Amino acid sequence: MPGIYLHIPFCKQACHYCNFHFSTSLKYKEEMVGAMLRELALRHGYLADKELDSIYFGGGTPSLLTEGELMRFFEEIGKYFTLRPGAEVTLEANPDDLAKEKIAALRRTPVNRLSIGIQSFFEEDLQFFNRAHNAREARACLEDALSAGFNDLTIDLIYGSPTTTDAHWEENLNIIFGYPIPHVSCYALTVEERTALAHFIKAGKSRPVDEEHAARQFEMLVSAMRAQGYVQYEISNFARPGHFAVHNSSYWKGEPYLGLGPSAHSYNGESRQWNIANNAKYMRALSDLSDLQDPPPGLFEIERLSPADRYNEYVMTGLRTIWGVELGRLRQMGAAFEPHFRQHIRPFLENGQAEQAGDTFRLTDAGRFLADGIAAAVFWA
Ligand code: SF4
Repeated sequence: MPGIYLHIPFCKQACHYCNFHFSTSLKYKEEMVGAMLRELALRHGYLADKELDSIYFGGGTPSLLTEGELMRFFEEIGKYFTLRPGAEVTLEANPDDLAKEKIAALRRTPVNRLSIGIQSFFEEDLQFFNRAHNAREARACLEDALSAGFNDLTIDLIYGSPTTTDAHWEENLNIIFGYPIPHVSCYALTVEERTALAHFIKAGKSRPVDEEHAARQFEMLVSAMRAQGYVQYEISNFARPGHFAVHNSSYWKGEPYLGLGPSAHSYNGESRQWNIANNAKYMRALSDLSDLQDPPPGLFEIERLSPADRYNEYVMTGLRTIWGVELGRLRQMGAAFEPHFRQHIRPFLENGQAEQAGDTFRLTDAGRFLADGIAAAVFWA
């Protein structure tokens, strides 16, 4: 069930917590679109299956693309692939970009799902995060997108910020429950290296992020979502039945995908590769390819996955999802993995953080917030 990911590496301004790859200068946006189309022409053969289940515009801020730029991507993708009926075509969008005219323009494209970076409905959070939108725009874009017919919406929220009181977090959740939104992704605020947030905390200009505060808001989140009928199918992702994200689920299930654009990753079951995370170098590598048949050197790095790498990736993602870790999959990877997994998951079965149903192991509510640590404990060293 293959998919294509397109990384649009531009943002209006830098959110203080963000360590994704982007530039705040939009000067080369058009050239970047041209370079990405050339990458597609060179690398479409990476996916053996020519029917796509998903296309995902991520970033960065894909809602900075014009209708014309988006259509150029769809026309070029259409030369090499077809979309399966009902395929999911997602575009990440920021509220400040979603004026009514923009939403109408997006409705004229094959985009059928918007992923809106709301993050919070409170000004103090949005200012602390250095988001480009305000609380009014956060609500207005939801209303406008829904009334324009974008029913397949997912929104992102952030919890655990020192600015987010429990009362505000509860209110954030209650606001989204007031809209017919089928999918919600919620992330704990994390302090990544080399971000403005890390710098402010180090300089004593910002309160540090408190893990207990985040853990408590995660518990509030899980119980509120459950009470509203959402399924927590991945630690950070909640959906109404029938609305699990196709594209992200394919990552977690190990399906192949082709990533285009600077810093984009690709995966084909045998290897992972990641494009250079530098806009100028990326565009230069793809600047004049009229006689090139293969991707130019320096465009990406590649890592062939050993059986141990595949085991580690599988337990890492499996333990984060409702699909869990299946012993049959471990056996296919090599004879040593099942006994290793059984031995190292045992303490978590005993302390109630993991559970077993038949041949499948999953984390319980008590284990889910600790998923990364539990996965590390069962890794093949
Ligand atoms: S808009 Fe998204 S990608 Fe851009 S800086 Fe903010 S969080 Fe990062």
